Amino acid sequence: MQVAVDGPAGAGKSTIARILAEKLQLIYIDTGAMYRALTWKALKLKIALDDEEKLYNLAKDTSIYFLQATGKQGIYCDAVEVSDFIRSPDVNDKVSLLAAHSRLRKVMVEKQREMALDKSVIMDGRDVGECILPHADYKFFITASLQERASRRMIDLQRQGHKDDYDRVKCLLRKRDESDSSRETGSLKILNDSIVINTDRKEVEEVVAEILSIIKDN
Ligand code: C5P
Repeated sequence: MQVAVDGPAGAGKSTIARILAEKLQLIYIDTGAMYRALTWKALKLKIALDDEEKLYNLAKDTSIYFLQATGKQGIYCDAVEVSDFIRSPDVNDKVSLLAAHSRLRKVMVEKQREMALDKSVIMDGRDVGECILPHADYKFFITASLQERASRRMIDLQRQGHKDDYDRVKCLLRKRDESDSSRETGSLKILNDSIVINTDRKEVEEVVAEILSIIKDN
């Protein structure tokens, strides 16, 4: 079974996809984490985020993969575990600039398709249903209001020990939505065959149950 989960930042995609992966015995692939890992590396190497050629080469030459260590799935960038670095405010702010480059996206989509090839997977991101798994058995579009997403992002940041301001977080989420929705390729959108799930005022368990019941009924 292959399941695509797309939607805007902070809608709860990763939390929900991770739980569904466990319940349905699917491999979980967080495609946003891959763009974040590449952004972390680009920032570390001081590559300008408008230098398409350098970023394209960086994507080609970087190995990004997931490994299960100490019971938790971690993301690795050239053999370095970067799970703790890719959620920083700096990466949050810059990732959609990097993700806007079409040639770089082609390289990433290629890597992501390869990871999913002949496997039962649940993948979350922005272009999973459209570009990575166009033949997925299920395509979900998980969304929530900007206010709710900003509040959730604040809680996540606090948990990780980062300080930020609610209005700034909300403004950056809005900017990220705009950038993710307006780029040339792999833009964030509801597809004709997407099932839309709004998570406003819903507990995670409620959303998981809603999705499981849709899958069981089909
Ligand atoms: O899902 P997450 O918020 O971690 O994704 C971070 C960013 O990575 C998104 O805002 C988007 O710019 C980019 N992304 C993407 N395509 C994907 C997944 C994420 O462009 N499939």
